[in-house]
Amino acid sequence: MAVNRTVLKILAFALLMLTIRSSVSGQEARNAPAPEYVLRIEVEPGDRQYATAITNLLNRYVPVMERYFFRVLQDTISVRVVSPPEFQRRRLPSWAAAAYFPGQQQILVQKSGSGIQLALLERHFVHELSHLFFDRTFSRQAEIPLWYNEGLAETWRGCQIGFWEAAKLSYWLLSDNLLSLRQIGYLHRLSKSRAEQAYLESCLAVRFLHSYFGDAYPREQFYHDLETMGWKRAVFALTGLTEAEFEQTWREELARKYTWSIFLQLDSVLWIFMVVIVIISFFLKKLWNRRRLKAWEIEEQYREFGEQKTSDDAES
Ligand SMILES: [Zn+2]
Repeated sequence: MAVNRTVLKILAFALLMLTIRSSVSGQEARNAPAPEYVLRIEVEPGDRQYATAITNLLNRYVPVMERYFFRVLQDTISVRVVSPPEFQRRRLPSWAAAAYFPGQQQILVQKSGSGIQLALLERHFVHELSHLFFDRTFSRQAEIPLWYNEGLAETWRGCQIGFWEAAKLSYWLLSDNLLSLRQIGYLHRLSKSRAEQAYLESCLAVRFLHSYFGDAYPREQFYHDLETMGWKRAVFALTGLTEAEFEQTWREELARKYTWSIFLQLDSVLWIFMVVIVIISFFLKKLWNRRRLKAWEIEEQYREFGEQKTSDDAES
């Protein structure tokens, strides 16, 4: 019974054969090849804006990811948008907002409580879409460590090292609190703050590994080697390093770049310093004015008292 109600609640087992790309305009739409995948989106009544937003995101990102992963999607992309209670029933970490289930080949998106937030939806959805591509691209993915999968997903999400990220990296390095690449393999058991650290480190590790690509060894070659040789040998072929040596070299690179990076972000530091100075000046000025007013009040009282005393003396 409950199942039937759930089925009824689902508005559209909307099987969208994407023969037109809604986000591209006239001429572009005529030139763009029709996607070869089938999109199946499940949303509850009243959440059709999620279906539209997700369709637009797929139109935008699938062609780019197809080029990046050297793989054209020809099967079904299944996406389901669910309420927070239903999402939490899936035994996902409390900090998760979307997830990809390789078994069902489905992306699950948690609705935000306060209406659709497009920028947030894009960040989470693109991360999961990268997992979907990873899953369809690498058949020997059991050998590939989680940090590479998560790092790629974070790269798509647009991981950036701004002031706060640099500050955190600096702190982790100085306090010897950097997660090892092996620890990132247990991402789903980590607290929210440690998981955020794992995502950031994954992204930087992928960036470092990819810095070895060049004309002699392009990314396409690496992906081919991953399929034919497996992870360890492919990493060695690319970098000339074993996994342990790669991690050590990457940590040294992080230490070199980020241990004192907080002080290198002078623009931000100066900006914060100036704001603090302005706030302190404001309160000092306010305090000084108050003291000045008090002094005037006291002065006034003495003057009044003096005048009164003079007039009293005159009468006597
Ligand atoms: Zn992920």
